[in-house]
Amino acid sequence: MGVRRNIIRPAAGELSLDESLFDSPEFVTRLMRVAQLWHYVLISRVLAFLTFAFIPGVAGFLHHPSQWLVMAAGLPCDIILTVIGQAMRRPRPLPTRRLRALVMTCMGLIAFGSLLNAAAMFAAIAVPDGSRYFDAFTAIQIGSLLVAASAVVIVRPAFFAFAGTTALGGAIGVASWPFGVAGLIFLGLLIVMMREDIRHQRRATRAARLTMSDQQRALNLMRDFERAGRGWFWETDRHGHLVYISPTVAARLDRPLADLLGHPFTDIIRKRISNDESEERTLGFSLSSRTPFKELTVQAAVPGEERWWSISGQPISNELGNFQGFRGSGTDLTDKKRSEREINQLARYDTLTGLANRRHITDLLDRALKSHSGQAQPCALLLMDLDRFKAVNDTLGHPVGDQLLQQVAGRLTQIVGDKGQVGRLGGDEFQIVVPQMIQPEKLAGIANAIILSLAKPFSIEGEQVRIGSSIGIAVSDGPGVSASALVRNADLALYAAKDAGRGVYRFYADAMHNQASERKAIEDALRDALVKDELKLLYQPIVDVGSERITGFEALIRWHHATGGLISPSKFIPVAEESNLIVPIGEWIIRTACATIAQLGPGYRVAVNVSPRQFANEKLPATILSAVSAAGIRPEQLELEITEGVFLDESPENLAMFQKLKRTGVRLALDDFGTGYSALGYLKKAPFDKIKIDQSFVLGAADPNSMNAAIISSIVGLATALNMETTAEGVETHDDLALIRGLGCSHVQGYIYGKPMDLVEVLALLREGGGRVEANGYKSAREPRLTIFRTIQVASGGYQYEAIVRNMSSRGALVEGLWNVPPGTPLTLEFGPDQVFDAEARWSEGNRVGVQFAAAIDIEALIGPKPLPSARGRVRRAA
Ligand code: C2E
Ligand code: CA
Ligand code: CA
Repeated sequence: MGVRRNIIRPAAGELSLDESLFDSPEFVTRLMRVAQLWHYVLISRVLAFLTFAFIPGVAGFLHHPSQWLVMAAGLPCDIILTVIGQAMRRPRPLPTRRLRALVMTCMGLIAFGSLLNAAAMFAAIAVPDGSRYFDAFTAIQIGSLLVAASAVVIVRPAFFAFAGTTALGGAIGVASWPFGVAGLIFLGLLIVMMREDIRHQRRATRAARLTMSDQQRALNLMRDFERAGRGWFWETDRHGHLVYISPTVAARLDRPLADLLGHPFTDIIRKRISNDESEERTLGFSLSSRTPFKELTVQAAVPGEERWWSISGQPISNELGNFQGFRGSGTDLTDKKRSEREINQLARYDTLTGLANRRHITDLLDRALKSHSGQAQPCALLLMDLDRFKAVNDTLGHPVGDQLLQQVAGRLTQIVGDKGQVGRLGGDEFQIVVPQMIQPEKLAGIANAIILSLAKPFSIEGEQVRIGSSIGIAVSDGPGVSASALVRNADLALYAAKDAGRGVYRFYADAMHNQASERKAIEDALRDALVKDELKLLYQPIVDVGSERITGFEALIRWHHATGGLISPSKFIPVAEESNLIVPIGEWIIRTACATIAQLGPGYRVAVNVSPRQFANEKLPATILSAVSAAGIRPEQLELEITEGVFLDESPENLAMFQKLKRTGVRLALDDFGTGYSALGYLKKAPFDKIKIDQSFVLGAADPNSMNAAIISSIVGLATALNMETTAEGVETHDDLALIRGLGCSHVQGYIYGKPMDLVEVLALLREGGGRVEANGYKSAREPRLTIFRTIQVASGGYQYEAIVRNMSSRGALVEGLWNVPPGTPLTLEFGPDQVFDAEARWSEGNRVGVQFAAAIDIEALIGPKPLPSARGRVRRAA
């Protein structure tokens, strides 16, 4: 209605050109309506002209150019206006500029045509001849002017009626028949015109009513939508002040609706100072530049609550394209945002413990290593692994394992506090990033606190659970250490910590890296060992104690590396296990052992060692069956030695594997009994034929101060009760043998009856002794030391030294020429090609080191025929 007001008060100061009369849509429609009706005016004027030009007796009309010329000049205006009106019958969108020109043209034509016609009319009135025909002419002229005037002012039937009555009244008043006829014709035209206008009005009303109900429906839908809380609507005026906003928003903002209306739209949005305000900025920009915006995420100005909206808006303009304000909608994003955040949380944090997950902690490490400007920053990394966690998980169940991890996480975060960030890498592996700290004593303090804290029992579901932890520490105190390098270093340190017997921490040292690369080199070479035929099996006799008959052999693997010489199984078997190479190698061992059994004949067995990795391989029974049948032997001639480690996992699959192996008919021996996880329960479940007593119990068992004899005796008792054989391993001396015999072991395996030997030697041994052997060894446990003087190469931590061996036995040596070697340092002694032995420093004094060999060595093979033992070395232990 504002447009109307502008028509009435065109001089109002606020009126801009934008809002002039010509821009009023109402005025334009009305004017077009007038143009559409103008053909009636045209017809009446043409009729008037023709009537008075050609009806005989209209004196002087054609003789008065002032009249007909003026009147004729008005006709083109009427014609053009009519053409425009007819052309605009079907409304078509025009650019504002053209529409404005058109409207001005129409106005001009109406004004100009009416002016000319009026002039002609008054000229006619002024003609003094008083001809009656001019009256009719005048009447029609007046009528047409009235029509024009009324149409221009307001197109309403009342005005037609008024015009008609005037014309008719004129005819009656003048009382002339031509006037009457003209009046009637004109009246007829008026009636037709009126009818059409009424019909038009009706159509317009109906359309309006239809539009109205459409609007109502739209309104209802909108209200339902609003009420359902699915979204809300808003509209502003040209100045950005709200003219509409859904009541639900007012309720959300906890403000009366009236409070919001008339105020800036942006008042309902919270302004944030954070640097991530791009969305709000986009909103401000769109509003001031009057451009549409879509799904902007903004925060609602709800006091004390975090609420997010997605808003869209569209500038609105009237029919003529003038900006009127904004209209748009909004939806609540809070739930979506919340779940997004939850997803984010899931993506960065471990669900079980709430600690940073692998990705996030790696990220944090990256950030800790570099300052904002990209400069290297000091930082330490602790890698922690729980000891015995798998056992807890397997024996007490996963729910207990989960709770344990949660409690571990709790203790860790408490200890680390805000000094660093704790993350869980998965399983029982944790990583701790400690920025800005590289002092070993401080880091050792943290590591110690963790180890002590985790060593204390955990109480879970009424049970006391004990675990331990090992920690590897690596630090970066300068540029050039990448996050991945730091992780690898910490990993190596952790490896060393576990190797050192667990429950300790270790700092990374470069030597560890050498060990790791050595392992890698072994792994690579081992891949080719099978193909290159570098692996060999040796066989060590197993002897029945009572009869001294050989009942069988244990197959022990040897690796003669083309360049690296003889590599000990204790060195490469763990590598083979880790790389899973043990599976193909294990299969080769089984097949070779079976072939050997076939050669030895039906009276002998061969035992092979089966590593836990092989045991977990479900193809193992099939491999065994195929090897046994290929060799054509009885399955009970093959014995599998399985270490206790396997029983740590008392899973159903594990027990099922035992049953399957048993069904193949092979014998099962429990190897290294007593070294590990002495839960005796499994002895009942697993169908063993034999227990092998580890050599650590046999070693020095003859010493009266040792408990070993008692332990062996109880193992033998247990085995006898369960109907199992026993083999004592590592029997070297007559003293040991006598003791073992006395304790009731059924079998003996050790150097006293023979070292591991190759198949040729085995066959020779069997031929010579007819299956019997004689014990052959020192009497006492302490073997004499041989005084020698021999230069050797010692390798340690990647370095090579020259040193002198002063005396040695099969178990150890005194080495001179190495300064200050810390006890526990691993050393490799090289006596010559193919004579390389692993050893460990036990003590050190000045340049002398006492070393212990990892495995007993064959001195005879090393230094030739036994020289006379020195008197000093022959210390006898009590027999
Ligand atoms: P193990 O199964 O306990 O094997 C017995 C080890 O004790 C063998 O060492 C053997 O040479 C040694 N030994 C036997 N009698 C005596 C003795 O009187 N005195 C001393 N000091 N030692 C004795 P070896 O051959 O170096 O093997 C070490 C370990 O490597 C084995 O311990 C076994 O765990 C593993 N191993 C060896 N061969 C194989 C194999 O073919 N497969 C698998 N999976 N592991 C193997
Ligand atoms: Ca064994
Ligand atoms: Ca053993």
